[in-house]
Amino acid sequence: MKILISGASIAGPAVAYWLEQYGFDVTVVERAGQLRGGGYPIDIRATALEVVKRMGIHSQLRRAHIDTRALSFLAPDGGLVALLRPHAVAGGDEAEDLEVPRGDLARVLYDVTKDGVEYRFNDSIAALDEDADGIDVRFASGRVERFALVVAADGVHSSTRALKFGSEEPFHRYLGYCFAGFTMPNDFGLSHEGVVWNEPGRGVALYAVQDRPELFGFLCVTRDEPPFEAFRHPQAQRDLVAERFDGDGWKVPQVVEAMRTADDLFFDMVTQIRMPGWSSGRLALAGDAAHAPSFLTGQGSSLALVGAYVLAGELAAEFGAGGGGDHRAAFERYEALARPSPRPTRIWSAREWRIWFRAPPRRSPHATRCSSRSRACRRMRSRRTGRSICPTTLPDVSEIRATGDRSATGWLVLVYRVPSEPTRLRATVWRRLKALGAVYLQNSVATLPRTPANERALRKLQREIVGMDGTGILLESSALAGEQSVLDIFQAARSDEYEEIVDRCEGFLAEVGKEYTKNHFTYAELEENEVDYTKLVNWLDKVKARDQFGAPGRAEADAALAKCEQVLEEYAARVYAEEPEGH
Ligand SMILES: Cc1cc2nc3c(=O)[nH]c(=O)nc-3n(C[C@H](O)[C@H](O)[C@H](O)COP(=O)(O)OP(=O)(O)OC[C@H]3O[C@@H](n4cnc5c(N)ncnc54)[C@H](O)[C@@H]3O)c2cc1C
Repeated sequence: MKILISGASIAGPAVAYWLEQYGFDVTVVERAGQLRGGGYPIDIRATALEVVKRMGIHSQLRRAHIDTRALSFLAPDGGLVALLRPHAVAGGDEAEDLEVPRGDLARVLYDVTKDGVEYRFNDSIAALDEDADGIDVRFASGRVERFALVVAADGVHSSTRALKFGSEEPFHRYLGYCFAGFTMPNDFGLSHEGVVWNEPGRGVALYAVQDRPELFGFLCVTRDEPPFEAFRHPQAQRDLVAERFDGDGWKVPQVVEAMRTADDLFFDMVTQIRMPGWSSGRLALAGDAAHAPSFLTGQGSSLALVGAYVLAGELAAEFGAGGGGDHRAAFERYEALARPSPRPTRIWSAREWRIWFRAPPRRSPHATRCSSRSRACRRMRSRRTGRSICPTTLPDVSEIRATGDRSATGWLVLVYRVPSEPTRLRATVWRRLKALGAVYLQNSVATLPRTPANERALRKLQREIVGMDGTGILLESSALAGEQSVLDIFQAARSDEYEEIVDRCEGFLAEVGKEYTKNHFTYAELEENEVDYTKLVNWLDKVKARDQFGAPGRAEADAALAKCEQVLEEYAARVYAEEPEGH
């Protein structure tokens, strides 16, 4: 079943990931010529953390974690007003939450999907024409193609959404600010920290991501009316922001100049999107296109990740690996699970974040009440007060439905025979099955839990076996008796893999220990150890991805890898201390 997604930032690739896992044929179209980097550091919190764990990308994101250690608030002359730990302001769970550059998250999502999903850059949807059986898409490039469904994940100003719902104006709630985000050289000597400067009505934030040589610069200004005209003129966006900082002190002129010349400028107004419905016919909305909460909440990306998980899960629940379901039912459940309840709650106002930028503007006539209270939302915390906030709903993982989690509903059994010579053929098949996590019930009979992804992989292998002059039969089966034995074998295989990882981690620690004994503290050795560590991380990610039933040993493997990470960091610190610059 062919599904087209518009937008390759956060929501789009996240929906693509899950749909591909469930066996759909997925294409993503992105207007930009390539994956867009840049953007402000974003938070991954609460339920979204569980989602990225299930995607197997948590450890990669943990490595990209910004780990901001201090936030300084400056007076107009640059004098220090307050120095705080970020979580004193942002709330949340300091040990668990992730804060990663938006571009890094987009890159990880792209990398994890690019092999199974077709990405088309430099194109966009120009027209949609649906009937009872599908939807014809005309692209800006002129190409016309038919899909079963389309997902609009092209952001706050989604033009795909506009094709079905009309112009954005009735749906947006302008909150009275505009902002520009960009990268600039780290000429301020900042490391692992954020600096916020402000004057009434305007503010500057600089974020040093770890020890990277560049900073994220962020300029924010109040403005009574949304600057629609500026969206059509990139230069006008820079002027609109820059002119508000005329005559300001501290390093503001330097930051404004960097904004003027940045080649990755992201300009937008601070706005929420509140749609009356998240689907229309064969089109569903995802991420900011459906429910942008505005960056003030620090939750847009988390919501996009969780929404993607729910949407794809509901489509998979409806259509399974084949077809024949009702997309409207899937879309309705997606919205019911992920959308705010109608109970009104307090106003989501600029006052909420006065700590970041002083003197909020007059309340915009568009500003409105945010109406959302789900159980999971109560786990999200206000940046300022630590109290619950909820710009839009985020369902608890326990409430989320996705076929991937109910996959013990059958088994795929591959019965095969390959020619005895050359022997490497048998070894090839064995290796491929092992890499998939399959277990043998007896000689040449291997099984895997029935999931669309496993089915695709086994179908492919079956074809390859036939291509080797062998025979292969792929069966879909459910156990009438003795299923526990199959499960036990499967779990034992996963536990063995976790154990092997723990062993390798011990080996890794021993190797690093030797560097200390031999007094080896060079960049070359550090790099070698980093490569070994990355292999362990990738290996664990893979094992977790095939650990469908939560086998014993997972926590030990996590702990062993965390230990390796810690030891590697300590070793790196020692190398930096011992190696002279330039080596
Ligand atoms: C380069 C960039 C920088 C950002 N920086 C910030 C920031 O500093 N602060 C902040 O709060 N939020 C920022 N965001 C938005 C933030 O990523 C989202 O709020 C959030 O992560 C939800 O993601 P999304 O995928 O729903 O939407 P978005 O991240 O907005 O992504 C939408 C994607 O759709 C693409 N697109 C747009 N129109 C079309 C079209 N017609 N056809 C095909 N593709 C289209 C865009 O190029 C983009 O890749 C940024 C987004 C981008 C793309």
